[in-house]
Amino acid sequence: MGYGSLLLGHAYTAVLESVKSQIDKGTLFCVPTEKEVKLAETISKVVPCAEMTRLVNTGAEATMNAIRLARSFTKKKKIIKFEGCYHGAHDYVLARAGDSTRVGVPTSEGTIEEVSSQTLVIPYNDYSALEQVINKDDNIACIIVEPVPANIGLIIPDKQYLNEIRKITQKREIVLIFDEVVTGFRLALGGASEFFGIKPDLATFAKAMGNGFPIAAIAGKKEIMAQLSPSGKVYQASTYAGNPVSVSASEATIETLINSKNEIYPKIARTCDRLVQGINEEIEQLELHLTINAIGSMYQLFFTSGNVDDEKSAKKSDVAIFKKFYNELFKRGIFIPPSQFETCFISTAHSEDDADKTIECYNDALRKVKGSL
Ligand code: PLP
Repeated sequence: MGYGSLLLGHAYTAVLESVKSQIDKGTLFCVPTEKEVKLAETISKVVPCAEMTRLVNTGAEATMNAIRLARSFTKKKKIIKFEGCYHGAHDYVLARAGDSTRVGVPTSEGTIEEVSSQTLVIPYNDYSALEQVINKDDNIACIIVEPVPANIGLIIPDKQYLNEIRKITQKREIVLIFDEVVTGFRLALGGASEFFGIKPDLATFAKAMGNGFPIAAIAGKKEIMAQLSPSGKVYQASTYAGNPVSVSASEATIETLINSKNEIYPKIARTCDRLVQGINEEIEQLELHLTINAIGSMYQLFFTSGNVDDEKSAKKSDVAIFKKFYNELFKRGIFIPPSQFETCFISTAHSEDDADKTIECYNDALRKVKGSL
C-alpha cells in the first residue's frame, strides 16, 4: 500500500477526480496558489501542533527542513535520532551509532563524517540511554523520532516513554520533532500526536496526506516555523513544492478523512485487529513462537519469539524465513512489503473478507515455513 501512503486504497475516486480537474487548469505555477494556502490552513486545523504549515514534496525534504529549523531556532548543532527510525535519504539522518558514545557514523557512502558525527543515535524505548546522552551534552538542537517506528518492522512505543521524551525536551529547550511521515493522518486524523495526546514542537508529514501523490509538510509552533524564508532566515525552496496537482490530491484526501473520520479510523483499526487476531490464533495452533506488533491500521509479524521493542530485538527476526514466507504469501496473491523491516498497512479499501482471505494465506504460508522454524 505504497509503504503506507494509500490509506484510502489505490485510485480513490475523489482523489483522482480532484487531480484530473486540476490538470485541465494547469499543473505548475511556482507561486503559492489559493489551494495551497487552504490546504495548509486545513492541516493547521487538524494537526494539534500545527500553528503554521509549509508544504514540500517528500518526507525527506520535510525532515531535513525541520532539523534545519531546530538548529536555527536553538542555535545548537547536534541532533538525536533513534536506532531503527528512518527519516529519509539525507545526510543529517543517514547515521548509526559508531560506539558507546552514540556519535553517528555514516550509513551511506558519499555522506561525510563531519555531518554524521553531529547526529547522536540512541536505542528506542530506552529512556535512561537518552537521559544519559542529554545530560552530558548541552549542544543538542532537536530530537527527531518516529512516534511509532515503522521502518524496522513495527515497534510500539511505551506511551510513558514518549511522555518522558516530551518532558525532557521541554526542560532542556530541545526541539521535539515527531516524524509523522507514516503515522500522520493514519493513526488518527491528527496523527500520533492526537492518538497519544502528546504535542511535539514540529511534525513532519507525507505518505497518507497525498494518498499516492508526492506531497509532504512541516508543521509546528509559530515561533519556530516563522523562521522559514521568506519571513525568516532558514532557506527552504523547491520548484514543485505546493504544486497544484499534489495539493489537489491532498485536499481531497484530507477532506475525505475529515468528513468520514468517525467511520474510517474505527474501520481500518477493526480490519487490522481481525487480521492480527486470526494470524495469532493460527500461530498458537501451530505452536509457533512468533511475535506480531500492531497498532491502529499497522502491523508486522516477526520471525522471533519475545518482545520486539527496539532495533536490537527486531534484528533477531530470521530474515531468511521471512523471505520464504514472503514468497509463499506472494504465490497466494498477498503482496506485503518485501522486507522484514517494513510495516504492513490496512487501507479503507480492505474489507473483512480481504482480512479473512489474508488470514487463510498467512496460515498456509506459516504451515509451509514451519519446518524451517
Ligand atoms: N520519515 C519516515 C518515518 C519514513 O517512513 C520515510 C519514508 O519511508 C521518510 C521519512 C522519507 O520519506 P520520503 O521517502 O517521502 O522522502
